[in-house]
Amino acid sequence: MLREKVIDGETLTRVIADLASRVSADLEGKDPVFICVLKGASYFFTHLTLRLAAPVVVDFIQVSSYGASTSSSGTVALVKDLTVDISGKDVYIVEDIVDTGLTLADVIALVWARHPRSVKVVGLLSKPSRRKVDVQVDFIGLEIPDRFVVGFGLDFAERFRNLPEIWEYVPEGEVG
Ligand code: 5GP
Repeated sequence: MLREKVIDGETLTRVIADLASRVSADLEGKDPVFICVLKGASYFFTHLTLRLAAPVVVDFIQVSSYGASTSSSGTVALVKDLTVDISGKDVYIVEDIVDTGLTLADVIALVWARHPRSVKVVGLLSKPSRRKVDVQVDFIGLEIPDRFVVGFGLDFAERFRNLPEIWEYVPEGEVG
């Protein structure tokens, strides 16, 4: 069940506008390619890139973890690859949420293997208390406590992505 609204739409708009201005200030002298990590980051990615102060190239990548509970670095499978050549480019990886950091660490490694000039990470949400690897996140929207959240792109079993705000979700069997 959706237990509680954690971040409302107005806050999301404000946080993304702030992120967009911080990232825009970083674009000077860059040849930027913005990479959306599907599917979760898609709503955030669209809102963020629409607010950037300069034209950028966009592309999409999708990865899936093998065995979520035991996932470790090197375990993501590439589901959908980039279509743009990022060699020599300044890449900005756009993620929905950084939890343990394992997925992001693998995506960063995958991107570096394509020989970009630089790699930075933009994350909407972060759960610092859950971190297992010391992964680089250059721009963070909001830090949240260790709660499972859905909405604004984030799912539970592919549901709830199109909620316009972020909610805490508790699976039916665990409602207490
Ligand atoms: P990590 O590898 O950092 O542990 O997990 C990153 C991925 O796990 C995110 O891109 C997201 O797909 C998923 N994830 C982590 N925390 C949450 C959460 O609270 N809600 C949802 N819906 N997905 C999450």
